Amino acid sequence: MNPNIEKRNQLLAEKVMKGLKSRNMTGYYAASKEEALETALKLIPEGSSVTMGGAMSAHEIGLVDAVKKGNYHFIDRDAYADKRAAMLAAYDADVFLAGANAITEDGVMVNIDGNANRVSAIAQGPKKVIFIVGMNKVCDDVDGAIKRARNVAAPINAQRFGLATPCSKTGSCMNCKSPDTICCQILITRFSRHAGRIHVILVNDTLGF
Ligand code: SF4
Repeated sequence: MNPNIEKRNQLLAEKVMKGLKSRNMTGYYAASKEEALETALKLIPEGSSVTMGGAMSAHEIGLVDAVKKGNYHFIDRDAYADKRAAMLAAYDADVFLAGANAITEDGVMVNIDGNANRVSAIAQGPKKVIFIVGMNKVCDDVDGAIKRARNVAAPINAQRFGLATPCSKTGSCMNCKSPDTICCQILITRFSRHAGRIHVILVNDTLGF
């Protein structure tokens, strides 16, 4: 990576981590995907039950594979025939792995969801939530973060799931009320009441979307 980009990312991450700390959440900076994986695994005690929501970024740093192969109880929602039972098992997990659709420079996270299983587990349930966040997700403020979530993350997810939404044809948000919309719930995480619950690993790379 260009050393000037690297330096800028490190400086910006320090600002985001300061914001997270002021909001009772813990930030970490990883100079590479490998370092991010190492940091994440240190936060997951062996034997923990672990699940995830979306979390492309966790896949991209190799965390999901490492958990599946390691000494953990991975709750695989796709393996459950009963989707409600899968959802309840996820809420009861020790650790929830997540990505963020966007994060502000002062540490506020924005996440959009269709079924709301992901945003609801971020808000409540799992004992610990670990976010893997590429520096491409950092936005200047909450308005910018919501715009990013709706104009970048959501249209790409609509493509990914083959949904019949306006954004899957135009590439940007048309503020739809389509039955397929994935923008049913917008979660703004601006503070955590529970010290030690939310951990955010900022990665010096482009991850997820
Ligand atoms: S509101 Fe509709 S058009 Fe906008 S991003 Fe969400 S699904 Fe796409």
